[in-house]
Amino acid sequence: MSGGYTGKILEIDVTTQKTFVSDTDLDFCKQFIGAKGLGAKILFDTLPKNTDPLSPENLLLFTTGPLTGTKIQTSGRGTVVTKSPSTGLYLDSHFGGIFASDMKKAGWDVINIKGKSEKPIYIEIKDDLVTFHDAKDLWGMECQKTHEKLQKIHGKMRTAVIGPAGENLVKFSSITIEGHRHAGRGGPGAVMGSKNVKAIIVSGSKKVPLHDEDAYNAQAKEILKKIKENDFVPLRKQFGTPYWVKPVNDEGFIPTRNFQEGQFEHGDDLSAETMVDHIVDSSGACFNCIIACWNKSSIKQGPHKGISLVGPEYETLALMGTNLEIKTVEEVAFLNERCNELGMDTISLGCVLGFAIEAYQKGLIEKKDLNDINIDWGDTEEIARFIHAIAYRKGKAADILSEGVKYASEQFGKNSSSYAIHAKGLEIPGYDPRGTNGMGIAYATSDRGGCHQRAWVAKAELYDPELDRFSFEKKAKMVKEIQDERAAFFSLVLCDFAPISEEDCVEMWNHATGFDHTVDSYLKCGERIWNLIRLFNIREGLKENSDILPERFFTDSFSKGPAKDRVLSKKEFQQSIQEYYQIRGWDQKGIPTEKKLKTLGLDSYKK
Ligand code: SF4
Repeated sequence: MSGGYTGKILEIDVTTQKTFVSDTDLDFCKQFIGAKGLGAKILFDTLPKNTDPLSPENLLLFTTGPLTGTKIQTSGRGTVVTKSPSTGLYLDSHFGGIFASDMKKAGWDVINIKGKSEKPIYIEIKDDLVTFHDAKDLWGMECQKTHEKLQKIHGKMRTAVIGPAGENLVKFSSITIEGHRHAGRGGPGAVMGSKNVKAIIVSGSKKVPLHDEDAYNAQAKEILKKIKENDFVPLRKQFGTPYWVKPVNDEGFIPTRNFQEGQFEHGDDLSAETMVDHIVDSSGACFNCIIACWNKSSIKQGPHKGISLVGPEYETLALMGTNLEIKTVEEVAFLNERCNELGMDTISLGCVLGFAIEAYQKGLIEKKDLNDINIDWGDTEEIARFIHAIAYRKGKAADILSEGVKYASEQFGKNSSSYAIHAKGLEIPGYDPRGTNGMGIAYATSDRGGCHQRAWVAKAELYDPELDRFSFEKKAKMVKEIQDERAAFFSLVLCDFAPISEEDCVEMWNHATGFDHTVDSYLKCGERIWNLIRLFNIREGLKENSDILPERFFTDSFSKGPAKDRVLSKKEFQQSIQEYYQIRGWDQKGIPTEKKLKTLGLDSYKK
């Protein structure tokens, strides 16, 4: 086996509690890199068509890449790949911490979990040794407590756990890594819960093999130097993602009151500067990362004094803060901690709560269905009670909403789909496309539904003088190119926030493996991965005209801020989507053409 990969895939059938080891296919690795790409390939090849995401047949894949666990900065990232219960489509959800590094050092490129255990269990993986443990004492426990209890029993093993929301199959439940990082989006926690697996713990003692270790480590040092010299890294280090609250609020596209407005009058009270003044104690980092963007925080005043957490991140400040009219960082931190402990994604939950409050105010939810909870904008305590109800599916409304906004709007009817903020069933993050049009194309075409990480063009739209953020011009090409580049990058797999050039990525991949890729062939891998996932989604039921956005973005305008009175033009949006298809080499229905698939070596996949 080439360096960079361990060469081994661990398959675990939790129904029979049997394990099976297979070889990682080097030809696949050359074409699909690892992590995201390798997971997509395995999912496409081995998951039966139309598998119910919460059935025993679904696969829960923990994947690493050829750079995972090595000396390059941010190499502690890992990926969960599965069929999403939120969207019924492809899902990958990335996580930080050190779990993935230990998984690789235990000898595994991929851990592939399928089946359904008769009783709750957790799985211990110590190098080659796999042990199944009864989890009856852990079932029902919140995430941090589960993590602590497992470490008390097993020592410093790395943990991936679910909370009560995952156990109760909430469609946007997350997997929590080492107590405070998250594979958050798209409901991987529900997939794990459906298998009756409460936790996976791992430790590894092996060395990651490298083809040319001296060249690899020398270049890792060069990359470290470049990261230290990067202009944006000090801000990332000082503030983390909350840095973006102020510019996005000032420029008028932060979600406010379920995306009814783009600017929140108390936005400055949720800014990074306020966080640093009020709640941040210190910074922290994932495995091998000098950027150290985590904010380790604790609440120092008010009714929730003493609660500590890592966060809140920008997305939480937006979706659980401005979007719900929560006015202080302490209150957002409290709600964030509740979501973390119950095991739910704060982006999706923030959209669900915003939708619920609006639907309730419009008379679509009856008071009796809320179990005496009086949800309202800015009411932190009642919102916290409702978060708990959703995690446990308590009450008719909470049970419906635990399926996500798409399903809930189908149940509530009466035009509520127009303000159910999602793309393909995945709720939309914290950049309203009425103030950053390119994000509209990014959300609509993202491979996992409403996601900002596949092509985060908001920063360029704000600061590049060549771009007009209120226009779709140039955005289709830009989104396509970033999607391909990110697909490759997330397959290596490194952190979104690491400023590492394509050239350096390719060199490191080659030093690790002995491959002879170029930047062009690396980017082509990204394009290949993107197209394979598109074929998977079409196979699983993605229809024509699915690359769309909620109606609100086309009809409702803001009453204030720099994006005041603006709506998206549907005609221009649709033209931009067609332009995107054309640039991708897809037909007018968004299906990859034979010609395009042939250039990517994917022609046999269409049949
Ligand atoms: S930049 Fe932040 S999220 Fe990324 S690896 Fe470093 S500490 Fe983790």
